[in-house]
Amino acid sequence: MSFPQLGLIPALVHAAGEVGYFSPTPIQQAAIPAILHGQDVLGLAQTGSGKTAAFSLPLLQRWAQAQRHRSRRTVHTLVLVPTRELAAQVGETLRLLALRLPERPKIAVLFGGVSINPQMMALRGGADVVVATPGRLLDLLDNNALRLDHARALVLDEADRLLDLGFAQEMQRVLAAMPSGRQNLFFSATFEPAVEALAAQLLRDPLRVEVEAAPETTPDIAQRAIEVDPGRRTQLLSHLLHQEKWPRVLVFVATKHAAEVVAHKLRKTGIAAEPFHGMLGQGKRSQVVADFKARRLQVVVATDLAARGIDIAQLPVVVNYDLPRSAGDYVHRIGRTGRAGESGLALSFIPADGEAHFRLIEKRQGLRVPRERIPGFEPTVPAATAAVQVPSGGGVKGRRPSKKDRLRAALSVAAASADTP
Ligand code: AMP
Repeated sequence: MSFPQLGLIPALVHAAGEVGYFSPTPIQQAAIPAILHGQDVLGLAQTGSGKTAAFSLPLLQRWAQAQRHRSRRTVHTLVLVPTRELAAQVGETLRLLALRLPERPKIAVLFGGVSINPQMMALRGGADVVVATPGRLLDLLDNNALRLDHARALVLDEADRLLDLGFAQEMQRVLAAMPSGRQNLFFSATFEPAVEALAAQLLRDPLRVEVEAAPETTPDIAQRAIEVDPGRRTQLLSHLLHQEKWPRVLVFVATKHAAEVVAHKLRKTGIAAEPFHGMLGQGKRSQVVADFKARRLQVVVATDLAARGIDIAQLPVVVNYDLPRSAGDYVHRIGRTGRAGESGLALSFIPADGEAHFRLIEKRQGLRVPRERIPGFEPTVPAATAAVQVPSGGGVKGRRPSKKDRLRAALSVAAASADTP
């Protein structure tokens, strides 16, 4: 199956070829014809499946077709995303794929954490396609900087993350500002009850596309789990970095503070490492991503939220320094490696009190990762005697952290701080 066979116009096929997309991925094969016909789509797909182009190509085509009947510029397509990095990435994909259209859409990328004024200026005269995080979009709507009352299509990209990050109310307000007859496309890597409820609210008779294992795009990710005491994780990480000589490693931690502490300690052992989290300014975050891409950094130590939008081809290794809160987050994290057909390694540190939690993550994925011990770093606390199994910084997904959760997070930070490299 080729892109023209899916019904795409030559200008879009041409642009896709220019960014290196010569044949459609499975999700693109399934979703593109349905979206071109105006159908709603429920895509259960991880990052790395090619989902961005799966909605961008047909929606650009629908915009180009609708354009003939429009006299003024109004927002035709709204793409809601959880993070600014993803907003920038989706905006860039749309821009590149639209380059060969006879008339190009005006694409606005809107996210918080930066001054609102340039975004208000950019919206003067309207926009055709808007890619936005919910909070900043609402601010702009409240300021009458844009209107959505003629929008024809809504995409929720990474809907599970939008809900995880507490955007449920904002999303409802955005939906209320849109006309009801629109096309809805809903993409999520996981399908928990809250996600399912939102999908049921939004979608009418959707085409359901589930991409689990597709030969061209299945990330080839080896998974390893190493048992280690919490207080020795930084030392172990540093040992592995020196021993394995991985060129680039993305390390996940539970808190911003842990990101700072771990990166600092790695730097002290001579490893080029930087933290990456939501408290850093946009300039710093862009710099870290650029340095990582350019291989000036070997390690980025990131929180889940911040690492969401990092798209770096050939990222060989992801380390779960702190375990993720849910199986869904685990899938997202390890999906950062092995992208677009590359092979990757996902390595998890399992402290004794994380064993039960990691077992749940394995069970949700239907797999079992053998536990390893690294000589010199064998744990001193046996897993069986460990009482707590909720990872630090978290709690149970779907509710606010309790006092106990916060205490655990604080203890984990204290452990990271006490951790001498
Ligand atoms: P996504 O799931 O949208 O984050 O895309 C994952 C990666 O696959 C990105 O790096 C895209 O550039 C790439 N990609 C998307 N579609 C194709 C395609 N048809 N052929 C080759 N690469 C693709």
